Amino acid sequence: MKKKELGNTGLYVTPVSFGVLTVGNTQLDLPLEEGAALIRYAINKGINFFDTAQYYETYPYLKEGLKGINMQASPLKRPIICTKSLCLTYEEMEYAIEESLREMSLDAIDIFLLHEVRQDPDFELRKGAWQCLIDYKAAGAIRAIGVSTHHVDVAEKMACIPECDILFPLINYASLGIRKGDGEGSCEEMAAAIKKNADVGKGVFAMKAFGGGNLTGSYIKALDYVSSIEGISSIMVGIGKKEEIDRLVEYAQGILSKDYAPDVTKKRIHIDPGDCEGCGTCLTRCPNKAIFWNKRGIAEVDHGICLTCGYCAPVCPVRAIIMW
Ligand code: SF4
Ligand code: SF4
Repeated sequence: MKKKELGNTGLYVTPVSFGVLTVGNTQLDLPLEEGAALIRYAINKGINFFDTAQYYETYPYLKEGLKGINMQASPLKRPIICTKSLCLTYEEMEYAIEESLREMSLDAIDIFLLHEVRQDPDFELRKGAWQCLIDYKAAGAIRAIGVSTHHVDVAEKMACIPECDILFPLINYASLGIRKGDGEGSCEEMAAAIKKNADVGKGVFAMKAFGGGNLTGSYIKALDYVSSIEGISSIMVGIGKKEEIDRLVEYAQGILSKDYAPDVTKKRIHIDPGDCEGCGTCLTRCPNKAIFWNKRGIAEVDHGICLTCGYCAPVCPVRAIIMW
């Protein structure tokens, strides 16, 4: 697979990449060796870009999967690692950075992001954490910094922040989960914000091309859409099986049949308890009354009556409803 440079960072990434969230304890909860083997398999198949986060608790999988690889080699010859933190303050970010270095046994992190920056004033409220990223980059412990976001307005703003090297936005052809201000944003608006960033030299890679699994049935259409957007260097996909790696690599190599559609009949709807804000919109949307409040005030799916119709996923303002 031909690698592309992420903006002006000097980091070169494959056009498809591995989101490690899927293997961790909020989703498949794979045994350590199984998750690490999947990471090694992806590396052997040519994927060189991996995304994790403090909140995912998946650093041990990467540490194990990267064993034996010289992570001090040129970025062209080794995996590129991105992580991120939801934290607000300088001290919290300092802890998050040190934790990531320690738990993945790395001397430096390639990319460290503010995780899921929401509409104003969220970026301002996290100025302490942002300053910490700037300082650690200056000290050589991080190679590039930026934000991940579901918000068009945040993506637009990042184009004007000189210290920001990387934008990791949510985008898919159905506009699932894209936000703008207090309401919904469109894929056209996000694509325009991405171009604005790419035009000023920011590196961009995309998340949720499959809308949290809800568009996986339209596999080729979903990937073709994101691949066609100007300025995106890589599509980050949550992966849990070897076959998913095989198909993704075949897609990137242009040898996957245009008719390919994965079997999604065994997929189920899940609500990520870390993302759910308890707004209740999905409860009113579900035609089968399959979503209820659990003891912690978080929405949860009753799989005994869920029809996996997917109607609930688009109404969630924070993309907490996913299918896998
Ligand atoms: S997939 Fe359909 S039935 Fe299941 S929780 Fe969502 S809206 Fe309800
Ligand atoms: S719509 Fe999303 S944020 Fe709101 S209760 Fe449902 S899962 Fe939680």
